[in-house]
Amino acid sequence: MQFHNRGAGIYVPDGTAADAALARTTHLAVAAHQDDIEIMAYHGILECFGRDDKHFTGVTVTNGAGSPRDGLYAHYTDDQMQMVRRLEQKKAAFVGEFSAHVFLDYSSAAVKDADGPHVVEDLKKIIAAMKPQVIYTHNLADKHDTHVAVALRLIRALRELPRDSRPAHVYGCEVWRGLDWLNDDDKVVFNVEAHENIAMSLVGVFDSQIAGGKRYDLATMGRRRANATYFASHSVDQSQAQIYGLDLTPLVQDEKLDIGGYVQGFIDRFREEISGRIAELS
Ligand SMILES: [Zn+2]
Repeated sequence: MQFHNRGAGIYVPDGTAADAALARTTHLAVAAHQDDIEIMAYHGILECFGRDDKHFTGVTVTNGAGSPRDGLYAHYTDDQMQMVRRLEQKKAAFVGEFSAHVFLDYSSAAVKDADGPHVVEDLKKIIAAMKPQVIYTHNLADKHDTHVAVALRLIRALRELPRDSRPAHVYGCEVWRGLDWLNDDDKVVFNVEAHENIAMSLVGVFDSQIAGGKRYDLATMGRRRANATYFASHSVDQSQAQIYGLDLTPLVQDEKLDIGGYVQGFIDRFREEISGRIAELS
């Protein structure tokens, strides 16, 4: 499969031919950076882990050139950081038994260019080749511009594909902003307590990001534990680890649905819940 950038590529941990590895994919995650998938889409990895009938593939859209660096990596050039981050992502794909991992190798600036057609065209090619059942991406209330841009390019790609290539479910998940604020009726709740050792390893292999003191491994496990414990105040915990998702499926099924207005609906219901409780108890 040919992509726009010369540095793009596909890694298949078990050595299957790339086309076959894409075609068998049932669960897909599309993320901005190396490590985002392991933080936000562990549910998809878990659904497919150790299974013959379900397969997970990751897509990382950017090249990692702009990554922060410290400690062992403080003096690395942008080129060296790209190599390190790609190697770390391959380690995670191997540990997580991914069917394949696709590196699209774009700069952040290219992803944020709303008029640039190439990211959308690359995503269309990948999705048409696999017709996944479920796609995980960034949520549209995330506070990182590149994350939101990736989610918007993905929605555009899916809207431009024939309906039979579109997945049954598209979920926006948590990295640079949790989704605890969503009203409980609006949350998609993923129970991810299984294989906690694998969950920790998947985030832990991204040493270049953790080395500077940002303990994404501990923070990610902590968020999942906090989500599970603080989900319901009057019952015992149903799960020891939860990830929240924002359902993006309606935006993919209805090309005319306004994206900003759809997200605003979640914010409006959140506001109504809080002001309604204060009014009731005053
Ligand atoms: Zn990221």
